Amino acid sequence: MLSPLPTAPLRLRLDAHALADNWRALDALSGAARAGAAVKADAYGLGAGRVVPVLAAAGCRDWFVAHWREVPDVIAHVSAASVAVLHGPLNDADVAFALATGVCPVLNSLPQVARWRAAGGGRCHVMVDTGINRLGLAMQDLSDPLLEHLDIDLCLSHLASADEDVPQNALQRDRFGEVRNMIGARRYSLANSAGIALGSAYHADLTRPGIGLYGGVARRELAGVVRSVARPEAALLQIRDLAPGDAVGYNATYVAPKAMRVGVVSLGYADGYLRCWSNLGVLRHENAKLPVIGRVSMDLAAVDLSQAPDLHEGDWLALDYDLPEASKNSGLSQYELLTLLHRRFSRL
Ligand SMILES: *Cc1c(COP(=O)(O)O)cnc(C)c1O
Repeated sequence: MLSPLPTAPLRLRLDAHALADNWRALDALSGAARAGAAVKADAYGLGAGRVVPVLAAAGCRDWFVAHWREVPDVIAHVSAASVAVLHGPLNDADVAFALATGVCPVLNSLPQVARWRAAGGGRCHVMVDTGINRLGLAMQDLSDPLLEHLDIDLCLSHLASADEDVPQNALQRDRFGEVRNMIGARRYSLANSAGIALGSAYHADLTRPGIGLYGGVARRELAGVVRSVARPEAALLQIRDLAPGDAVGYNATYVAPKAMRVGVVSLGYADGYLRCWSNLGVLRHENAKLPVIGRVSMDLAAVDLSQAPDLHEGDWLALDYDLPEASKNSGLSQYELLTLLHRRFSRL
């Protein structure tokens, strides 16, 4: 018999209170509209199995995933009818899966509409492209007879630049107004997290926050509204004492200027801690700052322990991972920072 699997040297703590509070805050900011939740990509890497029950208890009733294979983790906790699959049905297997589970496809193109109708269809959502030129029916498709008598629950569109103050926002809002006159649906939805902060003209009936739920600040107005949710931590594997002139890591990109104590941490680019953090990132132990020195490798990074001389092998170090700040420092987006952290972390 296999003995129990040892714990991972990486853990991702989830602040469930912050997560629930973020949803409530974004729901309140959505005014008369309700807030749903984008839980695609395993809830942005935090684990749909943990995130969905917390948000459901907070009052969330509408869920968005991208792939059909993301459905089981969500419907383990909430009703299938409340789950929308953004990529839509690409083939008959997708349609069969939708019909068997009761999850709702988002139809993005006339071929997808035809496929859904041919299978008997039923309740569906429809995405219309109002300017992002990504997924969705084009405005000129909307008079197609295929769309007549379709049972559309939610008609949605997606903002391209809601995190910026640009004319494209008002343009998409106005186009969405036209869409509402052309497509009969029970509910309409336009705003992602940043779109919520653009005000009531963008709220329609349902908003679809993602990054904001998980502590990302998509626009400055959201800075005091949402707070950090993800706390990644890595184990200290080894401690070494360097003499002046000793080099650290691949290609010796850091050379000790003095005698110093260095910690080797179980954290590398295979864990989503990319090489851009080499000689740049910071880990923490309580209030001590532990700068990353040398190159981040696949499974390991080294930190300067000068500020925390009493650490031991096996101690846990926290990543400095405030999303807006980490994004500014690394050049990675807040979305990338979260979804990268997926792999070898155990989730607490
Ligand atoms: C990912 C996604 C969202 C959530 O966007 P955030 O910027 O994370 O709030 C909303 N709607 C659609 C269609 C999406 O793909």
